[in-house]
Amino acid sequence: MNVVTPLTTTFGPAEAFLGKGHRLLIDGKWVEAESGEVFETLNPATEQVIATVALGGTADIDAAVAAARKAFDAGPWPRMMPAERQRILQKLGDLIEENCEELAWIESLDNGKPVKVAEVADIPLTADLFHYMAAQARTREGHVVPTSDFAIPGAEFHAYTVDEPVGVVGLITPWNYPLLIAAGWQMAGALAAGNTVVLKPSEVTPLSITRFGELALEAGVPPGVINIVQGYGADAGARLVEHPQVDKIGFTGSTRTGRGLLKAVADSNLKKVTLELGGKSPDIIFADADLDAAIAGVAMGVFFNQGECCCAGTRIYVEDKVYDQVVAGMIDEARKIRLGSGQDPDTDMGPLVSQNQFDTVMSYVDAGKSDGAKVAVGGARAGDKGYFVQPTLFTEVNPNMSIVREEIFGPVATIERFSDINDVVRRANDTDYGLGAGIWTTDARKTHHVAKAIRAGTVFVNCYNVFDAAMPFGGYKQSGWGRNRGRQAFEAFTETKAVYVKLN
Ligand code: NDP
Repeated sequence: MNVVTPLTTTFGPAEAFLGKGHRLLIDGKWVEAESGEVFETLNPATEQVIATVALGGTADIDAAVAAARKAFDAGPWPRMMPAERQRILQKLGDLIEENCEELAWIESLDNGKPVKVAEVADIPLTADLFHYMAAQARTREGHVVPTSDFAIPGAEFHAYTVDEPVGVVGLITPWNYPLLIAAGWQMAGALAAGNTVVLKPSEVTPLSITRFGELALEAGVPPGVINIVQGYGADAGARLVEHPQVDKIGFTGSTRTGRGLLKAVADSNLKKVTLELGGKSPDIIFADADLDAAIAGVAMGVFFNQGECCCAGTRIYVEDKVYDQVVAGMIDEARKIRLGSGQDPDTDMGPLVSQNQFDTVMSYVDAGKSDGAKVAVGGARAGDKGYFVQPTLFTEVNPNMSIVREEIFGPVATIERFSDINDVVRRANDTDYGLGAGIWTTDARKTHHVAKAIRAGTVFVNCYNVFDAAMPFGGYKQSGWGRNRGRQAFEAFTETKAVYVKLN
């Protein structure tokens, strides 16, 4: 069964950074919160305080928006040659790469995830997004459009479109990939398109983005272009959403918060909105799949990042003929996972991010048990310190149980059997969400039939959790509006202007 390795309290290469005071980045300067208030951030493996951070509120958001407004309306960033913006963003990507080890330790200490995972996933993917978006900076263009003379008979026009930045962008982000989502998925595209930003990260994981702010200044990002205000959602976040000087909100978080945010936007200045929300993704194993690869891949799709993944494949459907074999294999995979401090190189899975998240996940585990599902493996807390949950699989579930319908956001999944391809597609689509899906098969016709029939923004075939900077990511149905990453994310941060010049 899973062991929790002894908890380490070493800060490694993050020691010097953690020892500093952590402030807000407004107009190119590090400042205390207007109120003077601070909050503490914990290592979720040890439950010990690792740093104290300035707690921003509405006054700090107002100051940050004013700085971003000034930088957009009068500063160099939207006006500079795209090649210059590209050079700065490329350098920022390089600096993220050069500081990978330190950033990975900071992320691990604040979020709980293994350093070895952050080092190969969170940090390099963030750097790659800056490199990808740096290149996009030079592709903002327009078209000359042939027009008719319906409006003014006999008139000739030189008519063209031009793509421009949206303006001041407010970004609100969660704690599961603190740096990757805030900096990589959200900020890189907004900056490349020439916008200025105010970020309100999750106060649960404030540290890596603060270190990123230092690197952004070192790369030469001008004052006011990137502003970072740590604070609570209901206070700093809500002010950013309603602020009349903000032109767009890019949000990643839960469907519940996203829904509330839309109501606030409707009552304010109708700013543009992109939403990356929750998921409850199906992962389907056909009997003809390479079962060893499928079992390992499906387990990774559930347990990677402690299950705190928006597209985690937590509804597993297995074809009848191989059901028993797959369940046995999945139980083995779950048992093999070593739990412990993220800083221990032997750790495969760290703790959940907070007491809150631990309580939420355990309440779903308890609901699964009381609804009559069978715990095939796990189903309990691991250890007696830190927010560790055993990798957990339920069988004998039905589609009405909360563990099948609702996003749990922890290392918990359900396994069901199927015998008919159309039936499994119907069940896979029987959800309010549409973020990700997995298919494991060696049959090309099944691959394309199911990939087409599944209503989800990303479909992984014979793989899971593959994220490339150039590929769009986002949700169908209640999993969101718009796309992050890829060319689509860059375009989401631009407005298109149509210009008619009458020539005669
Ligand atoms: P939340 O929705 O609780 O919070 C997300 C962010 O919104 C936080 O910074 C939060 O601040 C802020 N916030 C909360 N209330 C408000 C408000 N009224 N106005 C403005 N901002 C507010 O999500 P979690 O942080 O718990 O993250 C987990 C969720 O994120 C999961 O549902 C997951 O699926 C989703 N997610 C989606 C992804 C995607 O790409 N689709 C990727 C990653 C996560 P505070 O922390 O203070 O509450």
